[in-house]
Amino acid sequence: MQERGYYDRFGGAYLPEILVATFDELEAAFIEARRDPAFWKTYADLMSSYSGRPTPLTFAENLTRQFGGARIYIKREDLNHTGAHKANNVMGQGLLVKAMGKRRVIAETGAGQHGVATATMAAKFGFDCTIYMGEVDVLRQRPNVFWMERLGATVVPVKDGSRTLKDAINEAFRDWVTNMDSTHYVLGTACGPHPFPTLVTYFQSIIGQEARKQVLEATGQLPKRVYACVGGGSNAMGLFSGFLDDREVELIGVEAGGDGLGTSRHAARLAGDDASVGVAQGYKTYFLQDADGQMRETHSVAAGLDYVGVSPILAHHKESGRVRFEAATDAQVVDALALSMRQEGLIPALESCHAFAQAFAEAGQLTPEDVILINQSGRGDKDIFTVADAFGDPAWEQFIKDKARQYGA
Ligand SMILES: *Cc1c(COP(=O)(O)O)cnc(C)c1O
Repeated sequence: MQERGYYDRFGGAYLPEILVATFDELEAAFIEARRDPAFWKTYADLMSSYSGRPTPLTFAENLTRQFGGARIYIKREDLNHTGAHKANNVMGQGLLVKAMGKRRVIAETGAGQHGVATATMAAKFGFDCTIYMGEVDVLRQRPNVFWMERLGATVVPVKDGSRTLKDAINEAFRDWVTNMDSTHYVLGTACGPHPFPTLVTYFQSIIGQEARKQVLEATGQLPKRVYACVGGGSNAMGLFSGFLDDREVELIGVEAGGDGLGTSRHAARLAGDDASVGVAQGYKTYFLQDADGQMRETHSVAAGLDYVGVSPILAHHKESGRVRFEAATDAQVVDALALSMRQEGLIPALESCHAFAQAFAEAGQLTPEDVILINQSGRGDKDIFTVADAFGDPAWEQFIKDKARQYGA
């Protein structure tokens, strides 16, 4: 076991000896890339031609009028190819894989969004691609599995344990240990052993770099408050990194409050006091765990926020006080979605709606002199089943019944 890459008392790389050389190789490739000014340009050009960057900044005029407080601006990461900020990370890692001369990528995915993004990157770069997914998730997320396979990836259903995300993570590590020479493990968020939290944040920082410039251009001032949802923490770290040095800008990370922080059904690791510091999956952070260190079941209406750990960099920013953490409940999130659709014609992902809900709750505390910025981390098209269910749409239920009959279910 080795320890390195700490953010204050969080992070590190708790690795089996056999993986140490592979992490050294990855860190060396990352350090080399970061030192080379041509690398960022290659990355930004790729994101521009392939993923529509820079993504726009939208003034939410109607919502601003409704709350009568701060002027609300929205950073549109939903307009990336594959529909979320995840593209920034996977395409960046694709360039590193090329630099390391590897030919194969693996990833694990729960809801399937990171799997689709990785399979897309692999197709674009010509890499072989294997995606590990718990068997339960494979059944729950058929549309994403379908797209991954069409994109040329092999999707492996993991039948161990609870047959969900954490079992898929174990299986992906097992693959990596066997195939380190040819294979890179594309981690999906700013978690995991060093250097992943730094590396993923580096690629996602393109969000904050653009957003800071765009807000200044649009309003001539910095935002008073900046909101992002927090699953593993990559879109939040990406946006926040544009403003970390602006001490007057308040940064707010919004976690999944699920049924409420007073219940056991949520995924708030930093907003409440349910989580405790521990080491799991190769790094040290706040985990939702019981007294014996067993990981707890988490819950959120947004699958992308439904995770027991959180970025060690955000854990550090919580303790330093630089970032404030809040939680939005499932009910608040569905309300925020309804409002965003009706008022602005935007369909933010349920994950992103956590940031929207918190910003909506606070906008009226500020004045029209103030500007606030919300990250729309992804688009909500993927949530159609969940949202139709939440809104209780009878025509939709009939549609599903008819389809089931058509396919003999
Ligand atoms: C995956 C996902 C998230 C959560 O991941 P972070 O690493 O916390 O950013 C948030 N929003 C969307 C749209 C996602 O797809």
